[in-house]
Amino acid sequence: MKTQLERMRDAMAAANVEAVLVSSSTNLFWLTGFTGSFGYVLLSATDARFITDSRYAVQAKEQVSNMPVVSFSTPKSGMQVLKEELDSLGLTKVAFESVYVTCAQLTQFQEKVAGVEWVPADDLIENLRMIKTPEEVKLIKDACALTDKGFDHIKRLVQVGVSEFEIQLELEFFFRRNGATCAFDPIIVSGANSARPHGKATEKPLEDGDLVTFDFGAKLGGYCADMTRTVVVGQASDKTKEIYNTVLRAQMACLEMMKPGVIAADVDAKAREIFGEKGWAGNFGHGLGHGLGILVHDTGRLGIGSKTVLEPGQIWTVEPGIYFEGFGGCRIEDDVLVTETGIEIFNHSTKELLELS
Ligand code: ZN
Ligand code: ZN
Repeated sequence: MKTQLERMRDAMAAANVEAVLVSSSTNLFWLTGFTGSFGYVLLSATDARFITDSRYAVQAKEQVSNMPVVSFSTPKSGMQVLKEELDSLGLTKVAFESVYVTCAQLTQFQEKVAGVEWVPADDLIENLRMIKTPEEVKLIKDACALTDKGFDHIKRLVQVGVSEFEIQLELEFFFRRNGATCAFDPIIVSGANSARPHGKATEKPLEDGDLVTFDFGAKLGGYCADMTRTVVVGQASDKTKEIYNTVLRAQMACLEMMKPGVIAADVDAKAREIFGEKGWAGNFGHGLGHGLGILVHDTGRLGIGSKTVLEPGQIWTVEPGIYFEGFGGCRIEDDVLVTETGIEIFNHSTKELLELS
């Protein structure tokens, strides 16, 4: 497989872009492995520079091996160095990351790096990031494996009287103890709270019969996992079972149809069709899934209107959910890799209805 730099250069040639200035930490990490908070990559068809300041001079030399590193100290400014490097490479037209660069930053580029035409790069790099390298796939798989372990670890806390917040804290400790961080604030919501798809864990104690939704993921080696499981405290009522089994049926049907060539919107539509048969179409308010990678909500949507075609190397979350205000909700989410023939599911936590006490 081609390197990130080779793929960038192919995409730049195809889009007729002479040079790109990369400044977002997400894309800097993807291109070079650099994990600091400030840096620029200047990339043309033949040259590349990594520019950072003295705070990261040593770190950049250690982490960035695919291009020369230029570091500067005060009183020199980043804009001065950028201008010098652009001049020395003879670049006059540079694409900036319009997805990230603020209006204020663009004004700075335009005013302080005179003589250069700044053009938007749109989502040139984001689109490349959708197709993962084998190394990236391995990192996401590892993050998913630790996420499964995290679920095993907190399952035993599900009992009447334990608060959502206590479980969240235990999960955060678990990930930190295992060398990871949380990919995002874990969503742990019970009873009526579980009808809030992105609710926050509260001091509410778990109660008998509650649906409890856990939506969480480890971030390991710079890459995210994102899994959701919903369980029941004590015995599930008939209504709870009906909700759970319908969400599970929808999720399995969506996974079943995923393979190269399928349109993203069609996968989302499958879940809506199944919920619609129950008269619950209006209770599924979010998209079916999203791209996953360095960011937990990475490029790409499995949702209404998404024309993205599934391709080998993409990683998606698949997370249908149904929510009833005042009662509760249920969501089931897995992370999947599109392969040459179908998909590989990375999460192995059971999806059988767990009645825990
Ligand atoms: Zn999630
Ligand atoms: Zn998600």
